[in-house]
Amino acid sequence: MEIVKENKSVNRNIIAKRITPLSSFNSAELEKIVIEKLNEPKFRAKQLAEWLYKKLILDANSMKNIPAKLFDKLTENDFTTCSSEIIKKQQSHDGTTKILIQLADNEVIESVIIPSDKRITFCLSTQVGCPVQCYFCASGKNGLTRNLSAGEIVEQFIHCCSIIGHKLPSNIVFMGIGEGLLNLENLLNALEIISSENEINLGARRITVSTSGWVPGIVKLADQEKQFNLALSLHAVDDEMRSKLIPGKMRYPVNKILEACRYYRQKTNRMVTYEYTLLKGINDSIVAAKKLTTLALENRAKVNLIPYNSTENNGFYRPSAKRINEFSSILEKAGVQVSVRREMGNDVDAACGQLRNKYNK
Ligand code: SF4
Repeated sequence: MEIVKENKSVNRNIIAKRITPLSSFNSAELEKIVIEKLNEPKFRAKQLAEWLYKKLILDANSMKNIPAKLFDKLTENDFTTCSSEIIKKQQSHDGTTKILIQLADNEVIESVIIPSDKRITFCLSTQVGCPVQCYFCASGKNGLTRNLSAGEIVEQFIHCCSIIGHKLPSNIVFMGIGEGLLNLENLLNALEIISSENEINLGARRITVSTSGWVPGIVKLADQEKQFNLALSLHAVDDEMRSKLIPGKMRYPVNKILEACRYYRQKTNRMVTYEYTLLKGINDSIVAAKKLTTLALENRAKVNLIPYNSTENNGFYRPSAKRINEFSSILEKAGVQVSVRREMGNDVDAACGQLRNKYNK
């Protein structure tokens, strides 16, 4: 494992007041700000959008064709080209890179860059902490601190792009910290900027939104009728099994969640993926594999099995390799489109939220 950079004493001179990152805005909104608030010509908005969304650069010092007085005006009006900062970067020997990003109010989120074959995937966060508090997850341990704003989500994406050479990734998945559908308005605004042709232009089919099964959010996302992929963190085949993994306050009945996913498919024509974290002795039985097969076939869903990444002494364990094989074979032989997630970055606190928790401690 290589620690590329660590900086715990970042100068946060923008903490004191609420500063809005420019990446909160689409090109038309940027134009309005430049003309009406900064009293600058329209082409300056185009230049700013070009730096942020085409060159994927947040650092004002690199924006050579923008005059210093425009940056002064941005500051006077409580705007900034960059409100957050990468404070730590850990690279695993399998190429996975975990980064910690410090926000303007000193809160910290984490993102992961995962290379595989010829693809690069970013795993991004949507909230600081998570209100769902799944029993097996490090991210939810201390509950929710706050939602990320749309601008912070877009900045997080651009920070990750900067690490791979200011290029776009092949895919992004919102499977980092947080339940994205509980921050849906900000997430949708960020997705608009990331996927729109006028701004970043990463196709909607290359974007996956994950949910722990927040039914109203699934329905609202479906009603957008966009081509985003939906990943449902199902993790269990019935309500009793699910109650061992997800606290009741945020847990909908399995049949309601599956119904919402069918609605998603109907509205978007996109196949939903069931994410299923395999936990020894809890949801890894042969009976569970058969039930999951039935659910996937009935609902025409794909299944992604995720052997649990044991992190701390929390009573959850990874099943044996033999059991993982048996489980996936049952699905595969029955004709379910199934994959088993490869363990990546296990030398860099790979489990979601682990690096952030360590840093906060
Ligand atoms: S698994 Fe996802 S939904 Fe559950 S606590 Fe962790 S981040 Fe939140």
